[in-house]
Amino acid sequence: MDSRQTVKILLLGGTSEARSLAADVADDPLLDVVSSLAGRVHDPQLPAGATRVGGFGGATGLTQWLERECVDVVVDATHPFATSISSNAHQASRATGTPLVRLVRPAWTPSTEDRWVRVRSVSQAAETVERLSRRSFLTIGRQNVGAFAWIERTWFLVRSIDPPTGALPPHHEVLLARGPFAEADEIELMKAHRIDTMVTKNSGGAMTDAKLAAARRLGVPVVMIDRPREAGADFCAGTVGAVVDWLRAHAHVRGNDAR
Ligand code: NAP
Repeated sequence: MDSRQTVKILLLGGTSEARSLAADVADDPLLDVVSSLAGRVHDPQLPAGATRVGGFGGATGLTQWLERECVDVVVDATHPFATSISSNAHQASRATGTPLVRLVRPAWTPSTEDRWVRVRSVSQAAETVERLSRRSFLTIGRQNVGAFAWIERTWFLVRSIDPPTGALPPHHEVLLARGPFAEADEIELMKAHRIDTMVTKNSGGAMTDAKLAAARRLGVPVVMIDRPREAGADFCAGTVGAVVDWLRAHAHVRGNDAR
Protein backbone atom coordinates (compact mmCIF):
# COMPACT_ATOMS: atom_id res chain seq x y z
CA MET A 1 0.00 0.00 0.00
CA ASP A 2 1.27 3.46 -0.93
CA SER A 3 2.09 5.40 2.23
CA ARG A 4 2.33 8.80 0.54
CA GLN A 5 -0.16 11.68 0.63
CA THR A 6 -0.54 14.79 -1.51
CA VAL A 7 1.10 17.86 0.02
CA LYS A 8 -0.30 21.29 -0.77
CA ILE A 9 2.58 23.76 -1.13
CA LEU A 10 2.70 27.54 -1.36
CA LEU A 11 5.90 28.43 -3.22
CA LEU A 12 6.89 32.06 -2.70
CA GLY A 13 8.90 32.89 -5.79
CA GLY A 14 10.16 35.58 -8.10
CA THR A 15 13.56 33.88 -8.51
CA SER A 16 15.14 31.44 -10.97
CA GLU A 17 15.40 28.86 -8.16
CA ALA A 18 11.64 29.05 -7.54
CA ARG A 19 10.97 28.54 -11.26
CA SER A 20 13.33 25.52 -11.32
CA LEU A 21 11.60 24.03 -8.29
CA ALA A 22 8.12 24.53 -9.83
CA ALA A 23 9.32 22.90 -13.08
CA ASP A 24 10.95 19.96 -11.27
CA VAL A 25 7.80 19.00 -9.34
CA ALA A 26 5.18 19.97 -11.95
CA ASP A 27 4.49 16.31 -12.84
CA ASP A 28 4.67 14.97 -9.29
CA PRO A 29 1.11 13.98 -8.29
CA LEU A 30 2.03 14.14 -4.60
CA LEU A 31 3.27 17.74 -4.64
CA ASP A 32 0.47 20.21 -5.38
CA VAL A 33 2.31 23.52 -5.84
CA VAL A 34 0.91 27.04 -6.19
CA SER A 35 3.64 29.56 -7.08
CA SER A 36 3.23 33.11 -5.85
CA LEU A 37 4.70 36.24 -7.47
CA ALA A 38 4.66 39.77 -6.08
CA GLY A 39 3.61 41.20 -9.45
CA ARG A 40 6.39 43.81 -9.59
CA VAL A 41 7.93 42.90 -12.93
CA HIS A 42 5.95 44.07 -15.96
CA ASP A 43 6.49 40.91 -18.03
CA PRO A 44 7.43 38.17 -15.53
CA GLN A 45 8.85 34.77 -16.44
CA LEU A 46 5.97 32.58 -15.30
CA PRO A 47 6.69 29.31 -13.48
CA ALA A 48 5.28 25.92 -14.52
CA GLY A 49 1.99 24.94 -12.87
CA ALA A 50 -0.54 26.97 -10.90
CA THR A 51 0.43 30.59 -10.20
CA ARG A 52 -1.08 33.47 -8.25
CA VAL A 53 0.09 37.09 -8.44
CA GLY A 54 0.05 39.95 -5.90
CA GLY A 55 0.59 40.57 -2.18
CA PHE A 56 -1.36 38.75 0.54
CA GLY A 57 -1.83 41.75 2.83
CA GLY A 58 1.04 41.34 5.29
CA ALA A 59 1.61 38.48 7.72
CA THR A 60 -2.08 38.50 8.71
CA GLY A 61 -3.26 38.21 5.12
CA LEU A 62 -0.79 35.41 4.47
CA THR A 63 -1.90 33.58 7.62
CA GLN A 64 -5.51 33.73 6.44
CA TRP A 65 -4.51 32.57 2.96
CA LEU A 66 -2.66 29.52 4.36
CA GLU A 67 -5.70 28.58 6.44
CA ARG A 68 -8.24 29.15 3.68
CA GLU A 69 -6.24 27.19 1.09
CA CYS A 70 -5.33 24.37 3.54
CA VAL A 71 -1.61 24.76 2.80
CA ASP A 72 0.61 22.00 4.24
CA VAL A 73 4.05 23.52 3.57
CA VAL A 74 5.33 26.99 2.70
CA VAL A 75 8.48 27.14 0.57
CA ASP A 76 10.11 30.55 0.70
CA ALA A 77 12.27 30.72 -2.43
CA THR A 78 12.21 34.51 -2.65
CA HIS A 79 15.26 36.65 -3.28
CA PRO A 80 17.70 36.95 -0.33
CA PHE A 81 16.98 40.71 -0.17
CA ALA A 82 13.16 40.31 -0.14
CA THR A 83 13.01 40.61 3.64
CA SER A 84 9.37 41.63 4.15
CA ILE A 85 7.84 38.60 2.47
CA SER A 86 10.29 36.26 4.24
CA SER A 87 9.45 37.78 7.61
CA ASN A 88 5.72 37.50 6.81
CA ALA A 89 6.18 33.87 5.78
CA HIS A 90 7.96 33.16 9.05
CA GLN A 91 5.21 34.79 11.12
CA ALA A 92 2.39 33.11 9.18
CA SER A 93 4.08 29.72 9.43
CA ARG A 94 4.41 30.10 13.23
CA ALA A 95 0.80 31.33 13.57
CA THR A 96 -0.64 28.38 11.62
CA GLY A 97 1.88 25.66 12.53
CA THR A 98 2.70 25.22 8.82
CA PRO A 99 6.26 23.98 8.19
CA LEU A 100 8.46 26.59 6.48
CA VAL A 101 11.19 25.58 4.04
CA ARG A 102 13.71 28.19 2.90
CA LEU A 103 15.43 27.84 -0.47
CA VAL A 104 18.16 30.44 -0.71
CA ARG A 105 21.02 30.43 -3.16
CA PRO A 106 24.51 30.59 -1.62
CA ALA A 107 26.04 34.06 -1.36
CA TRP A 108 28.95 35.05 -3.60
CA THR A 109 32.34 35.01 -1.91
CA PRO A 110 35.37 37.05 -3.05
CA SER A 111 38.48 35.46 -4.53
CA THR A 112 41.92 36.90 -3.88
CA GLU A 113 41.75 38.87 -7.17
CA ASP A 114 38.46 40.54 -6.31
CA ARG A 115 38.42 44.11 -4.98
CA TRP A 116 35.29 44.21 -2.87
CA VAL A 117 34.24 46.98 -0.52
CA ARG A 118 31.62 45.30 1.65
CA VAL A 119 28.79 47.41 3.04
CA ARG A 120 25.74 46.58 5.13
CA SER A 121 23.04 48.66 3.41
CA VAL A 122 22.12 50.50 0.25
CA SER A 123 22.65 53.87 1.96
CA GLN A 124 26.17 52.81 2.99
CA ALA A 125 26.77 51.77 -0.62
CA ALA A 126 25.72 55.27 -1.76
CA GLU A 127 28.13 56.94 0.69
CA THR A 128 30.94 54.68 -0.53
CA VAL A 129 30.22 55.42 -4.19
CA GLU A 130 30.19 59.15 -3.54
CA ARG A 131 33.63 58.84 -1.97
CA LEU A 132 35.24 56.42 -4.47
CA SER A 133 33.60 56.67 -7.85
CA ARG A 134 33.11 59.04 -10.77
CA ARG A 135 31.53 56.50 -13.16
CA SER A 136 29.52 53.81 -11.40
CA PHE A 137 27.66 50.74 -12.67
CA LEU A 138 24.55 50.36 -10.50
CA THR A 139 23.16 46.81 -10.68
CA ILE A 140 20.92 46.60 -7.63
CA GLY A 141 17.53 46.23 -9.34
CA ARG A 142 15.08 49.07 -9.79
CA GLN A 143 13.78 49.57 -6.24
CA ASN A 144 16.64 51.22 -4.34
CA VAL A 145 18.13 53.52 -6.98
CA GLY A 146 16.63 56.51 -5.14
CA ALA A 147 19.25 56.03 -2.39
CA PHE A 148 21.82 57.33 -4.92
CA ALA A 149 19.73 60.30 -6.13
CA TRP A 150 21.61 62.83 -3.94
CA ILE A 151 24.99 62.10 -5.53
CA GLU A 152 25.93 64.86 -7.95
CA ARG A 153 29.53 64.17 -8.83
CA THR A 154 29.17 60.59 -10.04
CA TRP A 155 27.74 59.45 -13.38
CA PHE A 156 25.68 56.23 -13.14
CA LEU A 157 24.89 53.43 -15.55
CA VAL A 158 21.68 52.09 -13.98
CA ARG A 159 20.74 48.57 -15.13
CA SER A 160 17.42 46.93 -14.23
CA ILE A 161 14.74 44.73 -15.82
CA ASP A 162 11.99 47.36 -15.57
CA PRO A 163 12.50 51.15 -15.28
CA PRO A 164 13.75 52.26 -11.84
CA THR A 165 11.18 53.61 -9.40
CA GLY A 166 11.64 56.87 -7.48
CA ALA A 167 14.22 59.64 -7.91
CA LEU A 168 17.30 59.14 -10.05
CA PRO A 169 20.76 60.71 -9.69
CA PRO A 170 21.22 63.84 -11.84
CA HIS A 171 23.83 62.19 -14.12
CA HIS A 172 22.80 58.76 -15.34
CA GLU A 173 21.81 56.47 -18.17
CA VAL A 174 19.23 53.71 -17.70
CA LEU A 175 19.85 50.35 -19.38
CA LEU A 176 16.88 47.96 -19.32
CA ALA A 177 18.07 44.35 -19.58
CA ARG A 178 17.35 40.93 -18.08
CA GLY A 179 20.08 38.38 -17.31
CA PRO A 180 21.75 36.02 -17.75
CA PHE A 181 24.65 38.09 -19.06
CA ALA A 182 27.92 36.90 -20.65
CA GLU A 183 31.28 37.89 -19.16
CA ALA A 184 32.62 39.22 -22.50
CA ASP A 185 29.56 41.47 -22.89
CA GLU A 186 29.89 42.73 -19.33
CA ILE A 187 33.54 43.60 -19.97
CA GLU A 188 32.62 45.48 -23.16
CA LEU A 189 29.82 47.35 -21.37
CA MET A 190 32.05 48.43 -18.49
CA LYS A 191 34.86 49.46 -20.83
CA ALA A 192 32.50 51.39 -23.15
CA HIS A 193 31.17 53.41 -20.22
CA ARG A 194 34.58 53.77 -18.50
CA ILE A 195 33.16 52.28 -15.32
CA ASP A 196 35.40 52.71 -12.26
CA THR A 197 33.14 51.07 -9.62
CA MET A 198 30.29 48.57 -9.68
CA VAL A 199 27.55 48.33 -7.06
CA THR A 200 25.63 45.11 -6.44
CA LYS A 201 23.67 43.27 -3.78
CA ASN A 202 25.15 39.93 -2.78
CA SER A 203 22.35 38.09 -4.56
CA GLY A 204 24.42 35.00 -5.35
CA GLY A 205 23.68 32.60 -8.21
CA ALA A 206 24.91 32.19 -11.76
CA MET A 207 22.35 34.39 -13.56
CA THR A 208 24.25 37.61 -12.90
CA ASP A 209 27.71 36.60 -11.68
CA ALA A 210 29.36 37.43 -15.02
CA LYS A 211 29.51 41.07 -13.90
CA LEU A 212 31.73 40.02 -10.98
CA ALA A 213 34.08 38.13 -13.28
CA ALA A 214 34.18 41.16 -15.58
CA ALA A 215 34.97 43.53 -12.70
CA ARG A 216 37.72 41.13 -11.56
CA ARG A 217 39.24 41.04 -15.07
CA LEU A 218 39.16 44.84 -15.36
CA GLY A 219 40.35 45.47 -11.79
CA VAL A 220 37.15 47.42 -11.07
CA PRO A 221 36.25 47.65 -7.36
CA VAL A 222 32.87 46.21 -6.38
CA VAL A 223 30.74 47.80 -3.67
CA MET A 224 29.08 44.63 -2.35
CA ILE A 225 25.92 45.05 -0.27
CA ASP A 226 25.87 42.20 2.24
CA ARG A 227 22.72 40.14 2.76
CA PRO A 228 20.25 40.99 5.48
CA ARG A 229 19.75 38.50 8.30
CA GLU A 230 17.54 35.47 7.51
CA ALA A 231 14.19 35.00 9.27
CA GLY A 232 14.71 31.29 10.14
CA ALA A 233 12.95 28.16 8.86
CA ASP A 234 12.24 24.51 9.68
CA PHE A 235 14.51 23.42 6.83
CA CYS A 236 16.94 25.56 4.86
CA ALA A 237 18.80 24.53 1.69
CA GLY A 238 20.82 26.14 -1.08
CA THR A 239 19.77 23.79 -3.88
CA VAL A 240 16.47 22.94 -5.55
CA GLY A 241 17.27 19.21 -5.32
CA ALA A 242 17.59 19.31 -1.54
CA VAL A 243 14.20 21.02 -1.21
CA VAL A 244 12.52 18.55 -3.60
CA ASP A 245 13.95 15.65 -1.54
CA TRP A 246 12.62 17.25 1.67
CA LEU A 247 9.14 17.74 0.15
CA ARG A 248 8.97 14.14 -1.11
CA ALA A 249 10.09 12.82 2.28
CA HIS A 250 7.44 15.01 3.90
CA ALA A 251 4.77 13.47 1.64
CA HIS A 252 5.84 10.01 2.91
CA VAL A 253 5.76 11.07 6.55
CA ARG A 254 2.31 12.61 6.19
CA GLY A 255 1.10 9.45 4.45
CA ASN A 256 2.40 7.29 7.30
CA ASP A 257 0.84 9.62 9.89
CA ALA A 258 -2.52 9.44 8.09
CA ARG A 259 -2.62 5.60 8.16
P1 NAP B 1 9.66 42.41 -0.13
O1 NAP B 1 10.11 43.80 0.12
O2 NAP B 1 10.07 41.34 0.79
O3 NAP B 1 8.07 42.35 -0.22
C1 NAP B 1 7.23 43.49 -0.21
C2 NAP B 1 5.81 43.00 -0.34
O4 NAP B 1 5.57 42.45 -1.64
C3 NAP B 1 5.48 41.86 0.62
O5 NAP B 1 5.16 42.34 1.91
C4 NAP B 1 4.33 41.20 -0.09
O6 NAP B 1 3.15 41.97 0.03
C5 NAP B 1 4.73 41.31 -1.55
N1 NAP B 1 5.48 40.14 -2.01
C6 NAP B 1 6.83 39.98 -2.12
N2 NAP B 1 7.12 38.80 -2.66
C7 NAP B 1 5.95 38.18 -2.91
C8 NAP B 1 5.60 36.92 -3.47
N3 NAP B 1 6.54 36.06 -3.94
N4 NAP B 1 4.28 36.61 -3.57
C9 NAP B 1 3.33 37.49 -3.14
N5 NAP B 1 3.60 38.69 -2.60
C10 NAP B 1 4.89 39.03 -2.49
O7 NAP B 1 10.07 41.94 -1.61
P2 NAP B 1 10.77 42.75 -2.80
O8 NAP B 1 12.18 42.96 -2.44
O9 NAP B 1 9.88 43.88 -3.16
O10 NAP B 1 10.70 41.63 -3.92
C11 NAP B 1 9.47 41.33 -4.56
C12 NAP B 1 9.64 40.03 -5.32
O11 NAP B 1 10.68 40.16 -6.27
C13 NAP B 1 9.99 38.84 -4.42
O12 NAP B 1 9.10 37.80 -4.75
C14 NAP B 1 11.42 38.50 -4.75
O13 NAP B 1 11.65 37.11 -4.75
C15 NAP B 1 11.60 39.10 -6.14
N6 NAP B 1 12.95 39.66 -6.33
C16 NAP B 1 13.44 40.59 -5.45
C17 NAP B 1 14.72 41.10 -5.64
C18 NAP B 1 15.33 42.08 -4.67
O14 NAP B 1 16.47 42.51 -4.90
N7 NAP B 1 14.65 42.45 -3.58
C19 NAP B 1 15.48 40.66 -6.73
C20 NAP B 1 14.95 39.72 -7.62
C21 NAP B 1 13.67 39.24 -7.40
P3 NAP B 1 2.05 41.66 1.15
O15 NAP B 1 2.64 42.10 2.45
O16 NAP B 1 0.85 42.44 0.72
O17 NAP B 1 1.82 40.17 1.13
